[in-house]
Amino acid sequence: MPNNALDWKEKYLALLDKQEVLENNFATQTELLKRALVRSSLAAEGQDEQLDQELHTLRALVRQTINTSKLENHIEHLEQAVLKSETQAQQRQATLQMTLAYLVQQLLQLQLPKTLQKTLKAFEKDLAKQLAQQHGIHKILGQFKELQEQALIAAQPKQQQEHTTSTPGLFARLFKSSDSAAAPQPAATDTAAEPEPTENTQSKTAVADATELEPSLTAAQTRPEHSYIDDVQPLSDISYSSVAQHIHTTLMGLLNDLPINSEHEQQAQELRQRLTDGLNWYELVPLLDELSVIIIATAQGAADRELTDYLLELNQRLTSFYNSLESTSSGYLESVQDAKTLDNDLRLHVTGLQDDVQTSSDLASLKKLVDSRLDSVVSTLQVYQEKRTSSEAQIIERLQALSEHSRQMEQEAQQLSVKLEEQRQQALIDPLTGLANRAAWNERSALEHANLQAHSSLLLSIIDIDYFKRINDNYGHLAGDKVLKIIASELQKRLRETDFIARFGGEEYAVLMPDTPLEEGCELINTLRLAIAACPFNFKGEPVSVTLSAGVGKIAADESLDQAFDRVDQALYAAKKGGRNRIQSA
Ligand code: GH3
Ligand code: MG
Ligand code: MG
Repeated sequence: MPNNALDWKEKYLALLDKQEVLENNFATQTELLKRALVRSSLAAEGQDEQLDQELHTLRALVRQTINTSKLENHIEHLEQAVLKSETQAQQRQATLQMTLAYLVQQLLQLQLPKTLQKTLKAFEKDLAKQLAQQHGIHKILGQFKELQEQALIAAQPKQQQEHTTSTPGLFARLFKSSDSAAAPQPAATDTAAEPEPTENTQSKTAVADATELEPSLTAAQTRPEHSYIDDVQPLSDISYSSVAQHIHTTLMGLLNDLPINSEHEQQAQELRQRLTDGLNWYELVPLLDELSVIIIATAQGAADRELTDYLLELNQRLTSFYNSLESTSSGYLESVQDAKTLDNDLRLHVTGLQDDVQTSSDLASLKKLVDSRLDSVVSTLQVYQEKRTSSEAQIIERLQALSEHSRQMEQEAQQLSVKLEEQRQQALIDPLTGLANRAAWNERSALEHANLQAHSSLLLSIIDIDYFKRINDNYGHLAGDKVLKIIASELQKRLRETDFIARFGGEEYAVLMPDTPLEEGCELINTLRLAIAACPFNFKGEPVSVTLSAGVGKIAADESLDQAFDRVDQALYAAKKGGRNRIQSA
């Protein structure tokens, strides 16, 4: 084996050894850390239920072979629990500080020795600092308990001088005697002549009253006031029964006035029971402790006020929703009665809701009430909506029926108008020849005459079949009719588009020729004459010649239709007289 390879092998083995040492170190360190973690977590327990649960799980995870992702996940939970626990602890601390400060202020309203006042003030000033310390709560509660007892004892004789104090505080009221018979009877002593050096003792009354101090308290007064701990007067020295009634009344009142949430209701009930059963000094202190827990919980209920505010705002929104609905509903509801009913129903719900919000003190029940009110509003609106929908459906149905009816009527009217027009047209047509009849002639000739100015000229011609009577006489009326038809058709087809021909009567035809010079018109009518004359009529196998005569004239600008007609008729007469089968211009 080459030297080089040997070197590498040695290096590799040396590294393996090193790694083994490192792994062993790592395992030892991990084990140590696990143990440290388990112990720390045990030490951290007892602060918060959820946090305890998380710590328990953490210990279980650490004791197993460590699963990194599980542990990571759990540490996240743990962090949240710690955070929450910290926040809650801070809240509790703030509430406790506030409550204790309040209680200290109440105690300070009692007439207390200056030293005790100072101690109480120092205690209050120190509250935040003390509470921030580990186990500070226990210490501070212990101190407060001592101070409270001292203050109550120190204030005891003063309560008999209540007419000299300005505004009695909570505890002053607690221990104020309303029944002089029940109050402990003072024993007059000479040694008690020296009153406590407070502002009130300056007056003669105060000095006189001070002579009524109880002997035990007098003894306490004569002691130097160096420390509140040293000043403690055994509670058993004061007759509890002398203040029992006041404690009962005031604490009962407090319990009844507090907006206690359902969670603490049972606890409050137990406190009431204990108050009713009767207490002694030693039972009073824990009862006050429990009461303070309830007061703190009630204070925490302040957070719920945000929700109450929301509900109030919701109520306002509902009111404005109702108002806007009210203003639009009248437009939708056909019946005034329907609108009124909806209006009343909604008004009732909304007023009820307002009442609920104002009178309810319990958030849970308020939420329940608001829910049920909202349900009622929704169902009222549903009923209204259904009613509106069905009323709209009815209107639509009615409108559709009306529209169908009107469509039919329109169709019928159209058919009728077509029919009328047809009838009118029929009325203007001569049934035998199919030409315009006398009525149509009157209408058209009047129209053209009225528009005389619009034409360069308007010619009128009257055509009459010669000796027509003979045809009737010789070959019968039917043959005469046939001749009338054939001549009508021959004349019609030879006239221009712009010309108008009508059967004027019997065997006479009248023609209007607009924008035609007289000469041209005469030529045209002459063409017709020639055509008819050339027609090969046959009656009973015999060829018969049928001719016509015509008068043609131009309607003068200042001439009436009748005048022009007469003039042209004269020309026709002249043509007849002139031998027939000819044209005569007028
Ligand atoms: P003239 O050349 O002078 O016009 O002689 P005429 O015979 O044509 O004139 P007259 O006025 O003497 O006779 C017209 C006749 O036309 C009388 C009437 O019986 C007949 N007539 C009128 N209307 C009709 C009709 O609708 N059908 C038939 N067949 N004859 C009719
Ligand atoms: Mg005639
Ligand atoms: Mg005739």
